[in-house]
Amino acid sequence: KPVQLGRKDHKIDRHLVSHNAIKTCETLQRAGFEAFIVGGAVRDLLLGIAPKDFDVATNAEPEEVQKLFRRARIIGKRFRIVHVVFGNDIIETSTFRALHGDKVETDAHGRVLRDNVFGSQHEDATRRDFTVNALYYDPTQEIVLDYHHGVRDLRAKTLRMIGDPATRYREDPVRMLRVVRFAAKLGFEIDATTRAPIAELADLIENVPASRLFDEMLKLLTSGHALACLQRLRQEGLHQGLMPLLDVILEQPAGEKFVTLALSRTDERVRAGKSISPSFLFASLLWNLVKERWQVILESGEHTIPALFQAMDEIISQQCEKLAIQRRFTTDMREIWALQPRFEKRNGASPYRLLEHLRFRAGYDFLLLRTEVGELESELADWWTAFQVAEHSERAQMIADAN
Ligand code: ATP
Ligand code: MG
Repeated sequence: KPVQLGRKDHKIDRHLVSHNAIKTCETLQRAGFEAFIVGGAVRDLLLGIAPKDFDVATNAEPEEVQKLFRRARIIGKRFRIVHVVFGNDIIETSTFRALHGDKVETDAHGRVLRDNVFGSQHEDATRRDFTVNALYYDPTQEIVLDYHHGVRDLRAKTLRMIGDPATRYREDPVRMLRVVRFAAKLGFEIDATTRAPIAELADLIENVPASRLFDEMLKLLTSGHALACLQRLRQEGLHQGLMPLLDVILEQPAGEKFVTLALSRTDERVRAGKSISPSFLFASLLWNLVKERWQVILESGEHTIPALFQAMDEIISQQCEKLAIQRRFTTDMREIWALQPRFEKRNGASPYRLLEHLRFRAGYDFLLLRTEVGELESELADWWTAFQVAEHSERAQMIADAN
């Protein structure tokens, strides 16, 4: 039987709970199903943090959920869930999952390939990753259900795996990255038993599909605690050889200043509730590699721009082998890089054309970052800062002065 907490015990602030998540639960409950807000949202609510997304768990099956909402689609193969759509907001609604029996499909290392057998709420709680992530909140009755002493661990600021940690990491090696991300983000300790097998099992991350690794990396880098996460990954021995991107970030002394600055800027923005651009961040993380490669190609006699393009192509394809950086990001990254030499051309119509470029702002911000780490004299960035706000007549004079 789960521990049950009433309003006086959990003290969840209703204002922090998404209306759409409440609506989703109410609709399901009115149709006779059980429905709860679950996972990270409940964890964050108990900590008094506004959750960034809400998940709902129910005993209704995906087709039954879909029928109850005007806009809902069933997604996923490995793990079928329903996206209930409210404008720009999506409530991920999943059916209670059963524990893995003998039927479960795994790869040779024990990684679970499909997880679509439905079960009871108790079973659903047991197959979640950490105790603090296995809490259920019923927004109608305003009660929290706790099957694994998640509230106790939450108060002790401890991340504890449900079940046998080694087995759970084998089922899904991404859990090793998750525990590190949560530890850094929440400032929690990883329980010793939960932490112990990580060093030995770290290599299993190599079997995870690249697209899923990318999603997790993106979460990590945009958590508002990217620097702390990466330091922690290194501490746990999780970075080596796992992802070329991580090696780059953590092992390159030359680019360290640049990377650290880019990451702390991103962290600051996320924490201030501002939007961030993953492309800009990835462009920053890989810049030093691109620059080094660019230099080598230049020395072989290639011209500036073709050399830069060749370097960009090589670095991106090398990164995509392990980490499937999505096309929508690589396109922007290329543009940010490709703009850099154009800032140095300050003659004729070039500066005007550059100002009109769709990605001018990102390119300029990137130029500022390069300047700040001492890669460029500040004269160039200052010139561009002034040029943007100058009157038309002043601009012509600025161009004349720069040449
Ligand atoms: P956040 O959204 O803040 O990153 P979260 O805990 O909500 O953290 P999600 O990826 O949104 O993380 O997942 C929602 C819930 O689903 C988790 O809290 C956990 O209960 C469960 N879950 C997610 N990924 C896994 C996994 N790999 N193994 C087991 N349970 C998982
Ligand atoms: Mg979540």
